Amino acid sequence: MEREVRVRFAPSPTGPLHIGGVRTALYNYLLARKLGGKMLLRIEDTDQNRFVPGAEQYIMDALRWCGIEIDEGIEQGGPHAPYRQSERKPMYRQYAQQLIDSGHAYYAFDTAEDLDAMRARLTAAKVPNPQYNSITRAQMRNSLTLPEDEVKQLLESGAQYVIRLKVPRKEEIRFNDLIRGWVVVHSSAVDDKVLMKSDGMPTYHLANIVDDHLMEITHVIRGEEWLPSAPLHVLLYRYLGWEATMPQFAHLPLLLKPDGTGKLSKRDGDKLGFPVFPLEWHGTDAETGQPTVSSGYRESGYLPEAFINFLAFLGWNPGTQQELFSMQDLIDTFTIERVSKSPARFDQNKVRWYNEQYLRAKPDAELAHYLIQELHTQGLAVPQEKAEQIAALVKERATFPADLAKEAQLFFQRSTTYDEQVISKKWNAPVAAALAAFAQELTTAPDTTPDGIKALLTQVVEGQGMKLGQVLQALRVAVTGAAAGPDLMHIMHILGAPETAQRIQLAVEKLAA
Ligand code: GLU
Repeated sequence: MEREVRVRFAPSPTGPLHIGGVRTALYNYLLARKLGGKMLLRIEDTDQNRFVPGAEQYIMDALRWCGIEIDEGIEQGGPHAPYRQSERKPMYRQYAQQLIDSGHAYYAFDTAEDLDAMRARLTAAKVPNPQYNSITRAQMRNSLTLPEDEVKQLLESGAQYVIRLKVPRKEEIRFNDLIRGWVVVHSSAVDDKVLMKSDGMPTYHLANIVDDHLMEITHVIRGEEWLPSAPLHVLLYRYLGWEATMPQFAHLPLLLKPDGTGKLSKRDGDKLGFPVFPLEWHGTDAETGQPTVSSGYRESGYLPEAFINFLAFLGWNPGTQQELFSMQDLIDTFTIERVSKSPARFDQNKVRWYNEQYLRAKPDAELAHYLIQELHTQGLAVPQEKAEQIAALVKERATFPADLAKEAQLFFQRSTTYDEQVISKKWNAPVAAALAAFAQELTTAPDTTPDGIKALLTQVVEGQGMKLGQVLQALRVAVTGAAAGPDLMHIMHILGAPETAQRIQLAVEKLAA
């Protein structure tokens, strides 16, 4: 029988989720939904020293905002609960014991000083990467080197120890990565990783493998930074007797800074001029202890659909020209095979472009709703119909919802200044006279639709022996104060004939003075 596809997102709650983490969660989710499987959220909090309060809640809130739904997790529960590793602590010990019993792991009693001395010795001997491994373990204090009764006595006396994996000296470890193909690593490059710490907590490696096995995970999709750990994980599956159901691995490409000079990291915070976190994060500065705020996509006015569409394309493409994909489109189209091996560069213009597309595609009624609320905070009451007209007109100039309100200001406030460049070039006595005549006609015009206004304007201007092009910019400045903006005929239509006429008359008076 085919196994049900089960994937997991397994963040450590050490801080806010970075956009690379969101992308990992997204690809897992897309695969799960596409193949009718399950998406798990497992909190990997075995490293208590790195625990950051609020991070776990942040992760869940961020995934929810993105529309990444979790089937099994700490909130949802599920057949393999608990989904928080700190609550699973008693489960791991037996597997470490199993590895010891089968000769694949051992007790190590070395003190911090012993380890430092070993590193110093190896460094002095010019060993490039000093490690506790198949060679160096022979000189250390562990259950492979000490006499059996001494080991027994040490264990009984409650001496501090860790449990390490006994990595073979000469073996090729191979696995097939769904994105990278065959990965072959020689075991001499793998160190004897600690599986169980002296405080009785499992390390990431042991807990991760045990949980992936117990939770029946079929695909491990995670960031490239975990690729060096994968050979170790393959050994763990083998030694625990779980190789037949070992998940398939897929290591995602790195996310680079916009200039391609390195990995986009959490530490980049707001330094690069764009958020690296989905939601705003309130943290503490590690050095000063002062509160810090890092901006988030949500608070910066990005729509989750746009953010997700953008992220999906950082490392994946559908192989067609299509760029706009809803979550459902992504689910339908996504395949691991089309995830790229090469790193993806963050592109700030692209994420803004996506936001514009999604914002402008929203129904005017929805944009109007936003506009009404926003203007309300400024003490302005705007009827739905008018808000819809404004939204429809200004959305082409907006990247974020807040831009709608900014662009809408001209409808509620007469400008106190007039664009000087336009005035000096385009404003003169005949233009002012033509505009005054137009304002006069407008107050009694029967047709104040945008087309009606344009016809009237043309008629008045041509009646004065001028062309429309000679007055248009001056008219825009008279009505709005600015040299550029949305379609002028529509602006005048929404403002209404009386207000438009008054604004023109005012400009004519002021600019004549
Ligand atoms: N806890 C690891 C992390 O924080 C999970 C890595 C994995 O997916 O195996 O990314």
